[in-house]
Amino acid sequence: MTALTFEEARERSRLLDVSGYRVDLDVTGGGETFGSATVVRFGCRAPGAGSFIELSPARLRRAVLNGREVDPATLTGNRLPLPGLRETNELRVESDMPYSRTGAGLHRFTDTADGETYLALHGGLDNAQRVFAAFDQPDLKAPVTAAVTAPGDWTVIGNGRARPAGDGRWELAATPPMATYLVTLVAGPYFSISTEHHGVPFGLHARQSLAGNLRRDAAELLAVTRACFDRYREIFAEPYPYDSYDQAFVPELESGAVENPGCVTFRDDFLFPSAVTRAERQLRAMVIAHEMAHMWFGDLVTMRWWNDVWLSESFATYMGFRVLADATAFTGTWSDFALSHKTRGYDADQRASAHPVAPEPREVPDTDAARGGYDDISYAKGASALRQLVAWLGWPVFLAGINDYFARYRFGCATLADLLDCLSRAAGTDVGEWAGPWLRSSGVDTLTVSRPEPPGRVGCVSHAGGRPHRVWIGVYDEGPDELALRARVPVLVPADAAAVVLPAVAMRPEPALLLPNDGDFSYCKVRLDPVSQETIASSLGRLADPLSRAVAWNSVRDLVQDGQLPPRQYLVLAARHLPAETDGSMAGHVLGYARWTVADRYLPAGLRGAALAEITSLCRDLLSPRLAGEADGAGGDDEMRLVAVRGLIDSASGPGDISALWSWLAAGRVPGGPDLDSRLRWQILLRLTVLGAASRAEIEHDAGRDATAAGQLSAARCRAALPDDDAKQAAWAAMLGGAGGSLSGYELTATAQGFWQADQAELLAGYVPRYFAALAETAAGGAAGGTVPPGAAGLVRTLCRHGFPHHAADVATVRAGELCLATGALTGSLRRLLADQLEDLRRSVAVRSAY
Ligand SMILES: [Zn+2]
Repeated sequence: MTALTFEEARERSRLLDVSGYRVDLDVTGGGETFGSATVVRFGCRAPGAGSFIELSPARLRRAVLNGREVDPATLTGNRLPLPGLRETNELRVESDMPYSRTGAGLHRFTDTADGETYLALHGGLDNAQRVFAAFDQPDLKAPVTAAVTAPGDWTVIGNGRARPAGDGRWELAATPPMATYLVTLVAGPYFSISTEHHGVPFGLHARQSLAGNLRRDAAELLAVTRACFDRYREIFAEPYPYDSYDQAFVPELESGAVENPGCVTFRDDFLFPSAVTRAERQLRAMVIAHEMAHMWFGDLVTMRWWNDVWLSESFATYMGFRVLADATAFTGTWSDFALSHKTRGYDADQRASAHPVAPEPREVPDTDAARGGYDDISYAKGASALRQLVAWLGWPVFLAGINDYFARYRFGCATLADLLDCLSRAAGTDVGEWAGPWLRSSGVDTLTVSRPEPPGRVGCVSHAGGRPHRVWIGVYDEGPDELALRARVPVLVPADAAAVVLPAVAMRPEPALLLPNDGDFSYCKVRLDPVSQETIASSLGRLADPLSRAVAWNSVRDLVQDGQLPPRQYLVLAARHLPAETDGSMAGHVLGYARWTVADRYLPAGLRGAALAEITSLCRDLLSPRLAGEADGAGGDDEMRLVAVRGLIDSASGPGDISALWSWLAAGRVPGGPDLDSRLRWQILLRLTVLGAASRAEIEHDAGRDATAAGQLSAARCRAALPDDDAKQAAWAAMLGGAGGSLSGYELTATAQGFWQADQAELLAGYVPRYFAALAETAAGGAAGGTVPPGAAGLVRTLCRHGFPHHAADVATVRAGELCLATGALTGSLRRLLADQLEDLRRSVAVRSAY
């Protein structure tokens, strides 16, 4: 598929004005293709000129432009030339389109639980053209009227409200002008729950085998949906823009959710098959709030070109966390944002591929490069920058600017400059001065607090970086039970300031801890003075505010990442502070970093076993006090127990751990709870398989008992994790036999996740150099016999994202990867992904060799 360049898109939007699409699909045929008929009406500002439309069919049956036949043979790749345009034009296209198994286009999924088939259109970025003929760029917005002919017992939903017209035919209401990448259709024998709120029809949808899960969760899902809807109604002057609000939980969605106007699609594992933590429910609620924010940010007002992805994603991320905290029972969102999102933002922003939050259009030269924009800079750093902007402007001014922006550009498109004009008008000052360093430059600033000698003199905040920061410095004294907050001192650190002097209240008497960026309103790394560093080491867990603890944990993480604190020290701090931790989410993040980053990547292989033993011992600590004196199963802190049990399973290694896991499986529960549900059972079986303590027969036995799609994926992960060469060769062939062979995106991910295991480093050593050669070969289409099948580019990226041998942190692996990067025929987006993975690997090698 040829990528669309920025110049081509700009030229086409100068020339054309699209007035509407009529899309008619027939999905009653076989499992390979579906019928697609498109009528596009559009104007041309230079009659006589030519243009093109995108289409990726299995077969183009017929195209008619202004009553004249267009020879289907003129379709070149994914472009159909449209010569000799008139002032007003009508194009009719009829084609057979291929179903997708990779989430790009009309994805087709058959449920292993009951044999039912489900479809969902994922148009993201430039995949609408895999379903209908489209001018597939964000700034050619047009109303879309869709119709679908489906099997008689199916339900169809989409952007406009769908109504059955008899005999399996569904007609959808015309939408307001919208971008092609947001067109969706969801079809299948879905189970639905319908209701209404403020006159807007609300729907929840899931496949039949998840109907019980949807019924179980509907009250919570709808409560969050209503609360967010009401909050947006309150703060946005522009009313909800669409005729209905459906939320469809669809199979095998690659991203968490997609913000299609009026019809959001979610990964259906959000209808949790097993017990989850409050943090996981909060994440789901945050995604609901995030996608709903997109109805305004991205859908009502759309970026002109992909360089402004942040106008959608940074805003939706910020609003998602903010509205959830303001309007629902999930109030602890910002510490989760700090630990999960911001850490990924800092990591991304320190790689060579770091880019400004809002790049120039030419910095995103084509749609392939645009894929890279959906990254942790656009989401996490951009949202952090907005949190800082709100600290500068105040919430009312920020909202006034945003509402002006919606009013001016409703159902149209906008750029960074348009947004800044609106914010500047509202603020009465030039917000561009703030935006320059914050949105147009890359990299992370560092704020350092120091205490000049002798003690008691005023301390300083020094600043390495180019951005102004409005931050609060937490001043803490030793108290009997906790670190007592003396004051949060507001500090304005100008962009060019080398040092700012703190007021006397921060230094007299000498505090135990000065915590820069307390409250986490800015986006920066923080370095503590030696006294404060000691206080964090001894007393981090005694900070009362979870957000302060999150900032402190992130500062420790930064030191480890930067090679300034031995990684083992992170385990020591975890063991010291987690037993008193009350926030399960925080404990989960710290345990996860200790397990997957410190133990697997940063510690030399010889120390890994001891690290795993320390982590399991810590998890037992988290479990044991809660066992004492409790009635069986009446856990006082289910959240922390679940976090600890999961941590213990993942880190189990010695014979004692293995026999404990077997006894849990036999009893169907962990002593003291929780009961083992399907997820925990599979997690235990995976760990036992990795350690060579469970056999293929045991995997097949459980696979036979669990026919759900999630169960089958877990079985595939376990099979790939078996520590014998036959199993590894089979998994390798499945992953790399022709761009992922016949695996769906989810199956490929599960297999890749199972394949590489740090515990099996010796067995896998020979596969590491082969991996890079195979990646390049697959990317070039060689392994697929010359052509990469439709959607396979996405599978190759999956192979690089989830199938990368991170545990093999040594110079030889780095060299093999660099050779692949230098000589492989890789697309730009794959090149960037591989370069990022290699950079993380180099960091692991550096941290390993530093101690
Ligand atoms: Zn989003």
